[in-house]
Amino acid sequence: MIGYIIYILAHFFTQINAAEVPVFKPTPIQSDSLAKYVYLSFDDGPLPGTGNCVAICERQQVAATFFEVAFHQSRNSFGRNLYKKISSNKALFEIANHSYSHAFYGDYINYYHQADSALQDFLKAEKILQTNNNITRLPGNNAWNTAKIKRASGLVRPLVKKMDSVGLNVVGWDMEWRFNKSGRPIDAPEKIAAFADSLFLHNKTKTKNHLVILMHDHEFRASADSAKLATMIALLKRNPHYQFRKLTSYPGLKK
Ligand SMILES: [Zn+2]
Repeated sequence: MIGYIIYILAHFFTQINAAEVPVFKPTPIQSDSLAKYVYLSFDDGPLPGTGNCVAICERQQVAATFFEVAFHQSRNSFGRNLYKKISSNKALFEIANHSYSHAFYGDYINYYHQADSALQDFLKAEKILQTNNNITRLPGNNAWNTAKIKRASGLVRPLVKKMDSVGLNVVGWDMEWRFNKSGRPIDAPEKIAAFADSLFLHNKTKTKNHLVILMHDHEFRASADSAKLATMIALLKRNPHYQFRKLTSYPGLKK
């Protein structure tokens, strides 16, 4: 009898417990209609400072695109090791083509006047950088040539046309964190983050809700300056709608 009562009670509680088990309903994935996309881009590496940019983006888990100069990558083991560091974290980073010689080592007028040689400079870089994408950026010039955005000054237009004819995207920037003559960032991180906010707010980006920020690896070589980069990213991350992306996901690129 006692055994039966225990059986009934156990069964009773089992029933109650079963009734309490919540029914699993998958939560529908909701896209954030207020999402704004931030593309951090670092130019001219691998250089002193590149390692700091990589470490900070990894610590903050934000995506970034490194526009590399193939000459800097290939001239020594320092460059090759940094290249490997970036390319080994494919979840966060991608490498894009910023030419082999950075405009014949800074000779912009001659470079852009010799469009065939300049195109070859980019194609030579591609063989070294092995970017696996068709995204490029001109040295010292904010030109754009995607499927949707066409913008090129008279100086660079002959080169941009040639790059277009071989299927390359040219991607410039919406805002830049400039550096002074000593190569250190001019503006405070708070000012840069506020400027980014204002470009989104007033719809001043090339593509609505997509913001490309240009920085240079070497700006952040000193620890005091790399701390500013970390602060700027942390300030942007406070906005829950900001999402960090690599430039291969920028809208309207040529395939
Ligand atoms: Zn550059």
